[in-house]
Amino acid sequence: MTLHDRHRAVIPDWVALYYQRPIELTHGEGRHVWDAEGHRYLDFFGGILTTMTAHALPEVTKAVADQAARIIHSSTLYLNRPMVELAERIAALSGIPDARVFFTTSGTEANDTALLLATAHRRSNQVLAMRNSYHGRSFSAVSITGNRAWTTTSLSPIQPLYVHGGVRTRGPYAELSDERFIKACVADLEDLLGHTRDVAALIAEPVQGVGGFTSPPDGLYAAFREVLDRHGILWIADEVQTGWGRTGDHFWGWQAHAENGPPDILTFAKGIGNGMSIGGVVAPAPIMNCLDANSISTFGGSPITMAAGNANLSYLLEHDLPGNARRVGGLLIERLRAISVNVPAVREVRGRGLMIGIELVRPGTDEADPVAASAVLEAAREGGLLIGKGGGHNTSVLRIAPPLSLTVAEAEEGASIMEQALRSA
Ligand code: PMP
Repeated sequence: MTLHDRHRAVIPDWVALYYQRPIELTHGEGRHVWDAEGHRYLDFFGGILTTMTAHALPEVTKAVADQAARIIHSSTLYLNRPMVELAERIAALSGIPDARVFFTTSGTEANDTALLLATAHRRSNQVLAMRNSYHGRSFSAVSITGNRAWTTTSLSPIQPLYVHGGVRTRGPYAELSDERFIKACVADLEDLLGHTRDVAALIAEPVQGVGGFTSPPDGLYAAFREVLDRHGILWIADEVQTGWGRTGDHFWGWQAHAENGPPDILTFAKGIGNGMSIGGVVAPAPIMNCLDANSISTFGGSPITMAAGNANLSYLLEHDLPGNARRVGGLLIERLRAISVNVPAVREVRGRGLMIGIELVRPGTDEADPVAASAVLEAAREGGLLIGKGGGHNTSVLRIAPPLSLTVAEAEEGASIMEQALRSA
């Protein structure tokens, strides 16, 4: 029996694996990973953006080993130095005034906590979410996820109203200029609020991740913010994919929409732990402290994950990896655009920093082509490159999100493999 057979026999069917012959990764280094058959791959998906800086980064490995040799325990009930240190650093970086930080173990749990806070603070469970969004897989996070591929659970505890704006590439407003697009989305939001009472919050990813790396025009959420503020509605920015400089120009995705201030609540996860499970929520004290009963996360903020987070964050800042994401990501997008000019199946190459999407359609049409996307994924793997896929249109978007330390030479190498893969598929 192969490991894949054993996986199928015991793991739920809805845990989907990439590739017809799924890969078992055995180790990694820098921007590369190796599988159990000894193949080496350039990693352009960073383990779904969990490897923020680099694989097997010695600084992170040492911090984890040192902490493991001292004590591994939960974060609750006792003072926890690495947790307080990381919370102080994230609070300072967040842009949120008088910030408090609560650590969880995943992005899902972070968004759950954000909903807990927003609904308690506003005494309402009416939430707005964006069409095509993804916020996690718990009972409440699924219910605010607009991407149909991920929302099979019915009877969700929260029934959100969906706002237009997260996806620009298709739909009624697709052809509008930036300015008119923002106006149309704001009008949609105002209209919706005219029919709805007591909304607690709007939750949004500044750049939709699972939804296919779609980015609204800069300033959309600032324009929303102005309307939300008038109604006292909180804005939750889900930075699980966009945080830590991933988008190049900004440390957080919300900073492309900063005219009317930071979000009321920010959630993060994935990359900060460089593979260790860290999630969290940042909010100003009056919102964070609105709960009137105890609430803990046993493993959220555990010293071993916090040690990883501190070492990883130091490496990111000391090596200006957000700047690297901007520079190398800019080159990579240009190169992929140049390659795609001659590939009729490519509808669009889009992105910010090292968050790049390539949307595929049936040549000559505007019809999403998930079959081609899977074929390119397989071909890239054969060429020694791991990429991701996503999108609201039947997973027809190839997603590229390498570790932020990607070099120019590696970007070139990956682009060449993509060229072959796109041509062959
Ligand atoms: N929010 C966003 C934007 C995400 O992309 C994800 C994960 N893909 C989550 C939340 C959920 O995070 P996790 O899988 O760590 O629960």
